[in-house]
Amino acid sequence: MSRKRQILLLGFAFLLTAAEDAVARGPFTVGTLMADPGKRVSGFLEVPAGVDAGTRIPVTLLHGANDGPVLALIAGTHGYEYAPIIALQKLRGQIDPAQLSGTVILVHVANLPSFLGRTIYYSPVDGKNLNRVYPGKVDGTVSERIAYTITTEIIERAHAVADLHCGDGNEALRPYTYWMKGGNATVDEGSRQMALAFGLDHIVIDTNRPADPQASVYTANTAITRGKPAITTETGGLGDTRAEWVGLAERGVWNLLRHFKMLPGEPARAEAVVWLDTYEVLRSPETGIFYAAVQPGHTVARGALLGRLTDFFGNQLAEIRAPLAGVVNYVVATPPVSQGEPLAMVSHILAEEGK
Ligand SMILES: [Zn+2]
Repeated sequence: MSRKRQILLLGFAFLLTAAEDAVARGPFTVGTLMADPGKRVSGFLEVPAGVDAGTRIPVTLLHGANDGPVLALIAGTHGYEYAPIIALQKLRGQIDPAQLSGTVILVHVANLPSFLGRTIYYSPVDGKNLNRVYPGKVDGTVSERIAYTITTEIIERAHAVADLHCGDGNEALRPYTYWMKGGNATVDEGSRQMALAFGLDHIVIDTNRPADPQASVYTANTAITRGKPAITTETGGLGDTRAEWVGLAERGVWNLLRHFKMLPGEPARAEAVVWLDTYEVLRSPETGIFYAAVQPGHTVARGALLGRLTDFFGNQLAEIRAPLAGVVNYVVATPPVSQGEPLAMVSHILAEEGK
């Protein structure tokens, strides 16, 4: 065989292989949305009406030109948590699917009823917390139907999930990531590596999430109980959209894309990590007005004053004190509180690495 013919044949073989790859890498579909390799497609996942009105979920598919994992990024589980929602708006245009290996699913606002209704914690339609009703019910109320849609259309299609939160509209928060240990060592290690890669320097180790996939309760835990690594991140709060908070979520997503080799380069991991283990969410003993006495990120001694609760006339009802020594993850920083609602979260410091 002549050298020229050899090169020609090699070239032909290469073309064939490339053609086979293109066939193997078909379009990616979610609901009625379909993206070809190298393309960006946005649209809505419909949540049909049931016992109450339906809604829809704005979603973008960034289907990479090259093979790789499917990473789902979910913002707006709580509709007043704006910083990650704005981060995904920006990332939609910045992540170039032509350069991407794998597929990114952006859920821009998981909970549109809460976002448009400007409610904290609960849906204005059914009064439920979307991050407490997973994996959802096809015939439930709207929050349960949203959860069902996200479980079946997004989480079950993904290899890894990041649920992007911040302090709610009433919460001042020091950024941190939850590493949820679900019991499966491989998934736990995958989630730990995601938490480190996201790059926030406070990581809460959470061992108290349910193990039953049919009662997974939380968004990220729905992925974990289905054998997929996942994290929940907290960047920002108080309905704030300042660039600093938005940027933390953006940077974390770029880090995850590099961690999963969906883009070249290494993630910028935190240089020093404060690992937090046992934590307590303090709940209001009564309905009234709360005056915080600490800032998020403060370290407090056991028994330290976190804030005071008064009635509507200004008479003190209670002093809220730290049940353990540790870090204040978040604290309610606006006046109204109802009995049983969170006032603050304090976490015990397990270890500080890299300092
Ligand atoms: Zn949240």
